[in-house]
Amino acid sequence: MPSLVIVGTVALDNIRTPFGEVRAALGGSAFYAGLSASYWTEVGVMAIVGEDYPEEGFRLLERHGVDSRGITRSKEKTFSWTGEYTFDLNTAHTLKTDLNCLLSFDPDLPAVYDRLDTLFLANIDPDIQLRVLESMPVRPSLVVCDTMNFWIENKLDELKRVLARIDILTINEGEARMLSGEYSLVSAARKIVGMGPKILIVKRGEYGVLVFGKDSVFASPAYPLEEVKDPTGAGDSFAGGFIGYMTQSRKSTDDVLRQGIVVGSAMASFCVEDFSTKGLEGLSRNTISSRLSSFSALTSYPDLPSLDAGMKG
Ligand code: AMP
Repeated sequence: MPSLVIVGTVALDNIRTPFGEVRAALGGSAFYAGLSASYWTEVGVMAIVGEDYPEEGFRLLERHGVDSRGITRSKEKTFSWTGEYTFDLNTAHTLKTDLNCLLSFDPDLPAVYDRLDTLFLANIDPDIQLRVLESMPVRPSLVVCDTMNFWIENKLDELKRVLARIDILTINEGEARMLSGEYSLVSAARKIVGMGPKILIVKRGEYGVLVFGKDSVFASPAYPLEEVKDPTGAGDSFAGGFIGYMTQSRKSTDDVLRQGIVVGSAMASFCVEDFSTKGLEGLSRNTISSRLSSFSALTSYPDLPSLDAGMKG
């Protein structure tokens, strides 16, 4: 029985970056997050796909031990996102969002999973996020949510109702500004934390993440990579790794939160190395742990000088 359930999109993406192009490629918020989380905990995905969805997507989830009993098949077409990146790989430009079967998605989560520790409401229509939350007879101990500009523009009231009921929000830098109406991320975070979540994680592409609590802030860099081919899914892979780690740790202490942030950053670094989900597939324990060691080396400092030592005067 999965401890973590992810509700979100399973998609067929058309992506163009300066380094190549793919069409009808496996993607979607829940798909990336599910694969990434699968390295850390037992995970189930709830989503909807259309008639055109390839078996290959299900096989990939199965190979990673992801429970796909919650994925409904509809007679319509699969949700599809068409986007492109210029040399500024931090910003995805949406060219087209075809909701298709997402319009008829009505997940009945308790019918598939009657108990779970963590619920991740990955990027999807806030109406669906709200319905899922309201359907839970027992609130999971950790509820994390992600969203994007498309929903902030189209469903702000519904999104605000979701935010009032969650523990952690992950969101892009530009979207944090859009949601709060503030340019300063510190002011944006104060406003967003005031909307409900106890913790706000601001994703900043190649600059890493900023994590805001009510009275605290900390940062993790993104791993400096020689080659980035396709940033699609980086945010979802980050979230999957972070939440997967938090779930298996069964604790929400500050240390576990910080470790989870680095785990998420490491998982995102694999994702961007190749198109679609290729960079996330079939990673070995050694590969992941050596990336985590590189992260430690990247961010460890000796004790910093204090007034007593090393300062002039
Ligand atoms: P990201 O991690 O932010 O790069 O997310 C990329 C994934 O989000 C892609 O695989 C898309 O299929 C999916 N996506 C794009 N637009 C939406 C949307 N409006 N709602 C839900 N998922 C989306």
